[in-house]
Amino acid sequence: MEDCIFCKIIKGDIPSKKVYEDDLVYCFLDINPHTDGDCLIVPKKHILDFHDAPDELMIHINNVIKDLEIKYHLALKSSGLTIIHNSGVGQEVKHFHIHLIPRYDLNDVSLKAKRELQSIDKVYETIEKEFF
Ligand code: 5GP
Ligand code: ZN
Repeated sequence: MEDCIFCKIIKGDIPSKKVYEDDLVYCFLDINPHTDGDCLIVPKKHILDFHDAPDELMIHINNVIKDLEIKYHLALKSSGLTIIHNSGVGQEVKHFHIHLIPRYDLNDVSLKAKRELQSIDKVYETIEKEFF
């Protein structure tokens, strides 16, 4: 898609540091990494987010993640992964991507609430009423 930064990266119009590529996905280092090796797994086809991702693509991405986990462990000595997908609020680039963040220790990444939260009892009261 024109004007999509990830489509341009996939086409090679914008340079990137590739960590993996096949017919379905292109994976490259995030320009603003949380940890060493922080990368993005991006389908070559322009789709918005997980809602638009076919099951086969998600299964394929799962296998790519497992493969990259081993490679990162061997190359960079990572000992785990944090996997993030932003959809809607928080999605800056409107082309589906999974953040694959290699982990090295307990404190290298944190995801902390930045707004006041309701008690989980209160939240669950709503969930029980609305979900079931
Ligand atoms: P989002 O906030 O949409 O989930 O994440 C978008 C990610 O894309 C961010 O982590 C950002 O650093 C990364 N990013 C944005 N533009 C570029 C770019 O031109 N090159 C690379 N390698 N990463 C980018
Ligand atoms: Zn795109």
